Amino acid sequence: MSMQKFQKFEARLEAAGNGNPKRSVEELAAHVLGCKPLEIYFRELTVEQEAELEKLIARAEQGEPIQYIIGRVDFRGLEIACDSRALIPRPETELLVEEVLSTFDTSHSPLAIVDVCTGTGCIGLALAHELPNAQVTAIDISPEALALAQENADRLDLSEKFQCLENNLLEGIEENSFDVVVSNPPYIFSKVWKNLEPCVRDHEPQLALDGGERGMDLIVPLAEQAARVLKPGGGLFLEIGYDQGEVVFQCLEAVGFQNVRIIKDYAGLDRMVAGSKAQS
Ligand code: GLN
Repeated sequence: MSMQKFQKFEARLEAAGNGNPKRSVEELAAHVLGCKPLEIYFRELTVEQEAELEKLIARAEQGEPIQYIIGRVDFRGLEIACDSRALIPRPETELLVEEVLSTFDTSHSPLAIVDVCTGTGCIGLALAHELPNAQVTAIDISPEALALAQENADRLDLSEKFQCLENNLLEGIEENSFDVVVSNPPYIFSKVWKNLEPCVRDHEPQLALDGGERGMDLIVPLAEQAARVLKPGGGLFLEIGYDQGEVVFQCLEAVGFQNVRIIKDYAGLDRMVAGSKAQS
């Protein structure tokens, strides 16, 4: 397709407030062509493909996130399907998986992991994929999100190691039953959520983002429940907002976690807090 045509699409997305219009057009065109984004400049679109691209551009113009339009995202090398049923997996969440892997590896056998607020299932699926010894329980309060997580598990052939459970956090889960509790809960302050970019606020589930007035509505009960549900020596791993390091650190210490640590993301921002349950 001519460069001019791409530039026209780019201009439309730019006018619609898309922060990275060139990349968005490249990704959408690559999706239609079934090629890599930079290969689009060497390919010709058929009339049908051009009509299809036009439709996708129109959706992007309405502010729908590119990942939802394409319907999948790469997460630690796994192709995770995503749509408006769940939060789009973010690159910083890959680090949460990395952190679990740096503490619990294949030498722990077997490893019972619970991924709370699983959404697309990305965290639990990555752990199930990367740890042959892992059995993952994936919890969400949203049946829609869980259906998506299950679809992902089936497509990735991980469903034997990944069980979905509709539940409110860890309520009613047996004491001393997991080695790892990992979660990317909703942690955005309600006030901040209201002012998020429209492409996030108006398209991704509020349930997956809004953590209440101080962003702690789920983190506090989750930390308390995790202290009970983890086996002695087990680990809690939470993704947090860049400004929540200190308060979540205090919260984990207050419910008895040891070796509590704040971990930064690639941008140097506080992004995770982890702690261990005491050995009995
Ligand atoms: N990192 C996400 C965002 O900034 C928030 C994810 C969450 O609340 N768990 O949009």
